[in-house]
Amino acid sequence: MADSAASFLRRDGCVPAQALIAAAAHAQGMRDGARFGAKAVHAGIDFGTVSGHVRDVIAAVAPNYSRERFAGLGVRIIEGAARFTDAETVAVGELSIKAGHFVLAAGSLPTIPPIPGLLDTPHLTSETVADLADYPRHLIVIGASAAGLELAQAFRRLGSEVTVLETATPLPGEDGECAAVVLDALEREPVRLHAGVKISNVRRAFAGVQVAFATAAGTETLEGSHLLLAAGRRPSLDGLGLDAARIGHTPEGIVVDQHLRTTNKRVCAQRRYRRAAPRPRRHLPRRDRAPPSAGSARRLR
Ligand SMILES: Cc1cc2nc3c(=O)[nH]c(=O)nc-3n(C[C@H](O)[C@H](O)[C@H](O)COP(=O)(O)OP(=O)(O)OC[C@H]3O[C@@H](n4cnc5c(N)ncnc54)[C@H](O)[C@@H]3O)c2cc1C
Repeated sequence: MADSAASFLRRDGCVPAQALIAAAAHAQGMRDGARFGAKAVHAGIDFGTVSGHVRDVIAAVAPNYSRERFAGLGVRIIEGAARFTDAETVAVGELSIKAGHFVLAAGSLPTIPPIPGLLDTPHLTSETVADLADYPRHLIVIGASAAGLELAQAFRRLGSEVTVLETATPLPGEDGECAAVVLDALEREPVRLHAGVKISNVRRAFAGVQVAFATAAGTETLEGSHLLLAAGRRPSLDGLGLDAARIGHTPEGIVVDQHLRTTNKRVCAQRRYRRAAPRPRRHLPRRDRAPPSAGSARRLR
């Protein structure tokens, strides 16, 4: 189970990303030393050692996610794909479990944008970035979300040339003033960022990958050694049997009320990627009632 805990952590992307960022911060600290009165040094990066550090961090954290630890806490783990078969039953393989209450925490998956050629072109996502053994000479990142930019900055600090392509505005949904501070810092590193582009196609190239995109100034073609997709995440809903359990959902996520209850009163769901369900007004105290305009499409991020 420690192995499956480690493979979960690799796929989840968070621990590898934070381990890479820690290595990158050390490298940047060496370069930035002069302004603190410490002689700045050239940071020589051995990417094999960086990858080893990421593997070591995953191995160190994995026992916290292991079956043995949870068994010790009194939690029974059943490995397999779970699906609702009716409003009060979940099945895993041949096993059926009835319960009074369920919590849905099936997480999310990286979004694969519909860019022509993408599926035939090697690319990384947050699920595979920890498997990168070779140094990315020029990393092209699609998506200037917080997750995309933190990895872009980490690879830049570890010596890669990095270009980020964003179809809309960088750091969407973040406070504008804070986003400007982050974007200024990235420009100084420098991480190159093209916002408001339309990517027309992606293909394999001699250097690794080639991305063609249109800007206000015209069409450009960029070659890189590696391509990383950070174009957002979609809720993981496939195969959960939500309709059998009468759990309302949309492509954006599971419908929940302000207490995270789904349309099946036995089932609660996590807050991420959810839309708000119409509230059962008669059960709510007056102060909690939604204004008429906050209808069923209000987002609960
Ligand atoms: C690059 C990156 C950096 C991040 N950095 C941070 C950070 O700094 N801080 C932070 O808090 N978070 C960070 N995160 C997010 C964090 O890693 C978690 O992914 C996030 O908190 C969501 O966790 P979760 O438990 O909801 O879902 P997940 O981690 O996706 O877990 C859901 C689990 O449910 C399982 N599952 C799905 N469907 C079924 C089914 N039908 N039957 C049985 N099991 C099923 C999946 O296999 C998975 O194991 C980062 C993520 C990424 C990608």
